[in-house]
Amino acid sequence: MNKPLTGNLAIVSGPSGVGKSTVIAEVLRRRPDLYFSVSFTTRAPREGEVNGVNYHFVDVPEFERMIAEGELLEYANYSGNYYGTSAKLIDEKLEQGIDVLLDIEVVGSKIVHDKRPDTPLIFIIPPSFEVLSQRLYGRGTDSEEVIQKRLDRAREELKEVPRYDYLVVNDRVENAVDEILSILRAEGCRTKKRIHLVEIEEE
Ligand code: ADP
Ligand code: 5GP
Repeated sequence: MNKPLTGNLAIVSGPSGVGKSTVIAEVLRRRPDLYFSVSFTTRAPREGEVNGVNYHFVDVPEFERMIAEGELLEYANYSGNYYGTSAKLIDEKLEQGIDVLLDIEVVGSKIVHDKRPDTPLIFIIPPSFEVLSQRLYGRGTDSEEVIQKRLDRAREELKEVPRYDYLVVNDRVENAVDEILSILRAEGCRTKKRIHLVEIEEE
C-alpha cells in the first residue's frame, strides 16, 4: 500500500460576530484530533483572550518582519489590524497527517485557495443581518465605532459568498457544528485523499 497522504486543510470564514469562534470551539470539542491554526494579529487582546490560545498577539514591526521574511502563508488587513497564518506551523501539522482548520477572512481565504486549490472553503452566515448586529452588541467586547466598522465590512464580505464551496447558517450552534463536521468528514472521503488505500494493478 502507498503511504497515507498528508492531513487536510479547511477554511472557515464569516462576518465578525456570526459565531465562528463559538462554533469552532464546539467543532474542536467534538473532533479533538483536529488542529486549529492560531493566527498572528496586531489587534489588542479582548478581555479573556489568551496569548497563544486565541491568537499570537504581536506588534506591527514584528508582523512586518514576518511578512518580509516570507513566514506567512497569507495575511490581510482587517479593520486596521494585521492578521496572518504561519506557513510553518500549519505545514508541520499537515505533514504529520493532522487535519488543520483555519478561521480567516475573505482576502486571506482567496490567497490560500490560489496557492492550494484543493482547500475547501466554508462560509458561515447569520440567520439575518439583524441577528448579526444583535450578536456583535450582545458580545459586549467592541465599541460602537468598531461594531459599525465590522457591520460595514460584513456587507462587503457577503459579496464573496459565491466563491465558497459550502454555506452554513449559524441559527443554532449545534446545527452549524453538525454541518461543519459533515463537510470535513465528506472532504476526508474524497478519492484523492484515500487513493493510498487502493492497490491498482498496471494494465
Ligand atoms: P465570531 O468569532 O464570528 O466573531 P463569536 O463566536 O464571538 O463570533 O460570537 C459572537 C456572539 O454571538 C457571542 O456572544 C456568542 O456567544 C454569540 N453566538 C454565537 N453563535 C450563536 C448562536 N447560534 N445563537 C446565539 N448566539 C450565538
Ligand atoms: P477578530 O478580530 O474578530 O478576532 O477577527 C477579525 C477577522 O479576522 C475575522 O474575520 C477572522 O476570520 C479574521 N482572521 C483571524 N485570523 C486570521 C488570519 O490569520 N488571516 C486572515 N486573513 N484573517 C484572519
